[in-house]
Amino acid sequence: VRLGVPARKHAAAPRSGARTAKAAGSAAKKKTASTTRSASEQLAEYRSKRDFSRTAEPSGNERRPPKSTRRRRPGTLRFVIQKHAASHLHFDLRLEIDGVMKSWAVPKGPSADPAVKRLAMQVEDHPIAYNSFEGTIPAGEYGGGTVMLWDTGTYTPEASTGDRDDNATAHAGYERGDLKVVFHGQRMRGSWVLVRTKRPAGGSDSERPSWLLIKHRDDHAISAADGDLVRDHVTSVTTGRDMARIAAGTRGRG
Ligand code: MN
Repeated sequence: VRLGVPARKHAAAPRSGARTAKAAGSAAKKKTASTTRSASEQLAEYRSKRDFSRTAEPSGNERRPPKSTRRRRPGTLRFVIQKHAASHLHFDLRLEIDGVMKSWAVPKGPSADPAVKRLAMQVEDHPIAYNSFEGTIPAGEYGGGTVMLWDTGTYTPEASTGDRDDNATAHAGYERGDLKVVFHGQRMRGSWVLVRTKRPAGGSDSERPSWLLIKHRDDHAISAADGDLVRDHVTSVTTGRDMARIAAGTRGRG
């Protein structure tokens, strides 16, 4: 695996997420201590793929999280969906678990129609600071292309018994490959599930599993005949810009 070297290098790096990792660790301690890695370890691949002297994406090493993510009610887990015009247009779904944003590339984006299953290919964990990233990654850099904040908000893992256990509940669902969540976004609402369909195949270059993103039947379900989340919402939930205006901007907002 080609990521071994940078991963080790970064795992030894100081400071990065000590506080976040500690917070996540204590939240998840009882059930998950044995399987929870530090945020710093989880972000090694993310960092190894990027040159932060070239891209405006956050390194995850920021001393303080960006303003927008600093204050949060205890127990509220964040999510973001970014529309990303890389070599192939896709949507990146990220869920806060264990102090990082677990991430999936969803080629067709979410569908609120419970009859529609959308492929969600797991990708490397991202830093929580990525939740406010909108802008253009330079051509030639990893993921080069325009990134739009398509939706942001919080989510609640289902079967949650209380705020303090939300991370542990999400972690357990993630490990099980059956992660039921309720989104509290502007466009993502109600109950959804991420189901893991394929374990990573040993020896291949892409060692991450595939999942399916499916809407549950509830008041927020929309049949395909009545609407299409991706087609009906084409602007940034944060800045109101469409992809062309974001691409024309000098840089994404901080
Ligand atoms: Mn992407």
